[in-house]
Amino acid sequence: MPHARDVMGDVILMLGGTAEGRAVAQALLDRGIPAMLSLAGRTSLPLTAGPVRSGGFGGVDGLADYLRAENVSAVVDATHPFAASMTRNAVQACTQVGVPLVRLARPGWSNHPLAEQWLWVAGHEEAAQVASELGEPLLLTVGRLHTLDYVDRLADRRVVARVAEPPSGVLPPDWQLLCARGPFTFSGEKELFAEHGFTGLIAKDSGGSHTEAKLEAAAEQGAAVVMIRRPEPPQDLIEVSTIEEVVDWLP
Ligand code: NAP
Repeated sequence: MPHARDVMGDVILMLGGTAEGRAVAQALLDRGIPAMLSLAGRTSLPLTAGPVRSGGFGGVDGLADYLRAENVSAVVDATHPFAASMTRNAVQACTQVGVPLVRLARPGWSNHPLAEQWLWVAGHEEAAQVASELGEPLLLTVGRLHTLDYVDRLADRRVVARVAEPPSGVLPPDWQLLCARGPFTFSGEKELFAEHGFTGLIAKDSGGSHTEAKLEAAAEQGAAVVMIRRPEPPQDLIEVSTIEEVVDWLP
């Protein structure tokens, strides 16, 4: 794959849906670098100053067509660490068209001081199965898109499902929906754990600091943590972890 400096084009395509995506878009805007922020269009549009497009591209070929049509000079994939399909599509489309691609991924929590105490699982199905053995109530923090994956296994448990925006489906009667958007503080999380007396927390290895406080609150409460591993990134993908590194990499 070519480096960003070797390619001429009109605009940087930012694949977002995360705080990092918005921050990179803003950093480029501040430097006068033309950039388009792309969002999947699943949630309400965030407040951003620069241009935004919304909705899928239509798979690898759709994205490749977009890169050609808009004369995209480089792609920054700042999607969530669990948005594996978009990342895979970006790798294939950028390779096809010869557009440089960098992945901005915040470090995960695998080196967190508490990581060895957690029950690491490979995906949502295993997480639901392990969580079903943890008693109740449970705090479920897997995001709007995957909350409903837990309904079958945990239908008869008391579950607090915390999401930024409500899932599109009916939740069991013993479930409570808690709509809240991070960053969350340790004191707030401690209070939430004490109020409900959670026996378990289900979380994704999202990394970053916005949602990290729940991990310490769980430890303090003695609640088990079911932690879903990140999907493996495609091979040969250039990965950086800071906005400064993205900006340095750009043409
Ligand atoms: P995904 O499984 O990797 O993507 C599914 C499809 O959604 C993609 O194939 C693509 O459709 C479209 N898409 C995803 N991100 C897009 C973007 N930035 N711009 C345009 N189209 C996009 O992703 P997901 O897990 O459903 O997540 C959807 C979005 O929510 C992502 O942008 C991600 O950054 C954000 N998000 C995800 C999570 C999570 O835990 N998964 C958490 C927070 C935020 P086409 O194939 O039609 O192009």
